[in-house]
Amino acid sequence: MEFRNLKQQFQILKERMDKAVAEVMAECNFIGGRQVKELEEKLAAYVGVKHCISCGNGTDALTMMLMAWNIGPGDAVFVPDFTFFATGEVVSFEGATPVFVDVDPDTFNMDPDSLEEAILAVKAEGRLDPRVVIPVDLFGLPADYDRITGIAHRHGLRVLEDAAQGFGGMYRGRRACSLGDAATTSFFPAKPLGCYGDGGAVFTNDDREAEYLRSIAVHGKGSYKYDNVRIGWNSRLDTIQAAILLVKFDAFTEYELEDVNKVASWYTEALRAKVKTPLVPEGYYSSWAQYTIQVKDETERTTLQQKLKEQGIPTMVYYPKPMQGQAAFGNLQSYVECEVTEKLCNTVLSLPMDSGKDKSEILKICETILREL
Ligand SMILES: *Cc1c(COP(=O)(O)O)cnc(C)c1O
Repeated sequence: MEFRNLKQQFQILKERMDKAVAEVMAECNFIGGRQVKELEEKLAAYVGVKHCISCGNGTDALTMMLMAWNIGPGDAVFVPDFTFFATGEVVSFEGATPVFVDVDPDTFNMDPDSLEEAILAVKAEGRLDPRVVIPVDLFGLPADYDRITGIAHRHGLRVLEDAAQGFGGMYRGRRACSLGDAATTSFFPAKPLGCYGDGGAVFTNDDREAEYLRSIAVHGKGSYKYDNVRIGWNSRLDTIQAAILLVKFDAFTEYELEDVNKVASWYTEALRAKVKTPLVPEGYYSSWAQYTIQVKDETERTTLQQKLKEQGIPTMVYYPKPMQGQAAFGNLQSYVECEVTEKLCNTVLSLPMDSGKDKSEILKICETILREL
């Protein structure tokens, strides 16, 4: 069994994919081809935001948005303690200070109370200027944007939605990638909408921001490529990846997103009585980047992983370490306790998940889990 069966997904799309890639080859418009523009327009319309600016990957997307907001030394950026490294990395990369915030034990997403506590602690200390909150739509589920944005705006901070894992999700009638003051996503192959290499995008309703982002993504270009008005860098989505994403986007919106929700419901139905399954609160819709259960402790998790492995069932631990525990952040000051994150790092286990899994596969996994726990 595959943890995420990208091979099977490719076989289903192979004919359309071969044709789409061959077209790019024949046209030789490898950078900035028509497919890039077409994709950006489709994605912007789908999520309900005015501008989609594609770029090299989800990490660049976050970085470019922080650049657009002029975030740097002396600024505090609030990031969940439980997420993929890049969410905090980009903050340090820009010379600003990540402040880690605890998460909710049921949704895995940023805890609004912990956020407010952290903002107040940073303000009380008076050393850093609180500027941005980066909520993450972890494992496909949007964070609680009404509460988070309320707190952030009340304290004068902007909200940057990290929807690298969240594309396709919904929150109170609105799509992921439209839930912050700006948003970013990733097209890394294993993300909900993945390409066949690296790719990413930024979403904003602000015309001036969009123009700035398009400029820094191409060496700070001005009116044309050889007119350079600022120091930028090079971060573009290849035309081949855009062509691949156009095919994947159709599959994603036609059936994959629905199917992956069906798979999640099979897991939850079978496990709910005995296992802590992921919560999707009322008014939320997940794109299920991961299906993550919680067990009692690290020992139980190790044993369960081993038993599942013996049955040919792969599992993953997302994430084994809190962000604050990462050596790369050195001895960053901590402003709030992140006890939930610490517990989750020892108890979470992600199960095989993709839209192509059939019910018998899922039931076999569940049977093994129920037998061992
Ligand atoms: C994958 C991921 C990123 C980074 O995306 P890349 O395209 O790999 O650079 C950022 N944030 C989160 C939460 C992610 O899962």
